[in-house]
Amino acid sequence: RARNPHEKEFLQAVHEVAEAVIPYIAEHKLYNGRNILLRLAEPERAITFRVPWVDDTGEIRVNRGYRIQMSSVIGPYKGGLRFHPTVNMSILKFLAFEQVFKNSLTTLPMGGGKGGSDFDPKGKSDREVMRFCHSFMTELYRHIGPNTDVPAGDIGVGAREVGFLFGMYRKISNEFTGVLTGKGLSWGGSLIRPESTGYGTVYFAQNMFKLKGDSFKGKVVTISGSGNVAQYATEKANELGAKVVTLSDSSGTLYDKDGINSEKLAYVMHLKNVKRGRISEYLEKYPTAEFFSGKTPWHIPCDVALPCATQNELHGKDAATLIENGCICVSEGANMPSTPKAMNAFVNAKILYAPGKASNAGGVAVSGLEMAQNSMRYSWSREDVDEKLQGIMNQIHDSCIEHGTDPDGYINYVRGANIAGFVKVADAVLAQGVV
Ligand code: NDP
Repeated sequence: RARNPHEKEFLQAVHEVAEAVIPYIAEHKLYNGRNILLRLAEPERAITFRVPWVDDTGEIRVNRGYRIQMSSVIGPYKGGLRFHPTVNMSILKFLAFEQVFKNSLTTLPMGGGKGGSDFDPKGKSDREVMRFCHSFMTELYRHIGPNTDVPAGDIGVGAREVGFLFGMYRKISNEFTGVLTGKGLSWGGSLIRPESTGYGTVYFAQNMFKLKGDSFKGKVVTISGSGNVAQYATEKANELGAKVVTLSDSSGTLYDKDGINSEKLAYVMHLKNVKRGRISEYLEKYPTAEFFSGKTPWHIPCDVALPCATQNELHGKDAATLIENGCICVSEGANMPSTPKAMNAFVNAKILYAPGKASNAGGVAVSGLEMAQNSMRYSWSREDVDEKLQGIMNQIHDSCIEHGTDPDGYINYVRGANIAGFVKVADAVLAQGVV
């Protein structure tokens, strides 16, 4: 805390892990007195750099670029790039720290990292985005590599941005390697990678339901966000027989009481991914829906809530409203979307509650599978990758049960995920000595 006084989000993420892991360390002599958490909370390397670029009017703009290389103790640094005006050191350190435990949970050999820029792709032309991405990569390239650090997408970084970033990396390194994941299918990408985080979030919730003899069938689902994760969470929830009634963006919440079925979802995908419009424009095509300007979806009654937008988007009072309205399951597609008060409310109410580091790990898991396919110079089929994704989500769920089951049988997925993620990394830290 004294070392990072202004890093609110980072301290929040470390606090959550510490709360679960410190009692576990106290009970396990092997990890005792080795300052493992202290070592994991200090990035191995935190890089910031200038990103100059020229906008369409000819004006020179300057943004700040970052890459946080948190831990490479179990594999090359791995984690996305976020382009959003709110990006700063605290947010990227929280994301990189979370990523270390999440990647450990996937069972694949990946360390943790995160990066990005305070650049806002919203309202920029494709050419401006390309010039920015190219400039960003002319510095980032010297810090990454297929065996060193493998970035991917996150908020504001989708297929378009990954393409521009990869193009510049390939040119200046004179190599075609799997240095980024989330690539296009014709140039090294993996089937199911775009779908993986949203699908994985729903698969995880499906596992939680199965344990209770329940399923998604007939459930009313509220989802926040309308980007990559939200879109594919909607698709999979629909496929499993649920009715998704909300999506949102930073301007407000769309509520369609009749359900956002596959035809309406196709419209949303075109609106957000091609037209790059606002979710409120949904009403132009489907005028019976409602739009709540400036509001999040949590006041709408539901059985299942899937927060898929951003950190700290679901507060204590939202959690109370959800529980009061009968919500029985929350599975996080975003990273740390619930505030500590909201998390406590879910756990105290003993509803099914999965923290992002467990439930949204499907994205990085399939990124790991993309790396494996790139190394083999071979591609697996859609069915193969989907089956592997489901297998990994099942394993993460099992690890949470192993470390998170309370004496009364309630599964505390927060404790379970944090301890399971910690054990693998801690064992590697101890084996490798003080480095
Ligand atoms: P996208 O950029 O595709 O979509 C982000 C969505 O969240 C948009 O609808 C955006 O609305 C909304 N949003 C972003 N910031 C805010 C904010 N401050 N307030 C309200 N709404 C906001 O990103 P992704 O779908 O890829 O990522 C969503 C979340 O999932 C993030 O937390 C990310 O870290 C996490 N995640 C993503 C993975 C992936 O594979 N993509 C993997 C694991 C986790 P608007 O357009 O108005 O900004």
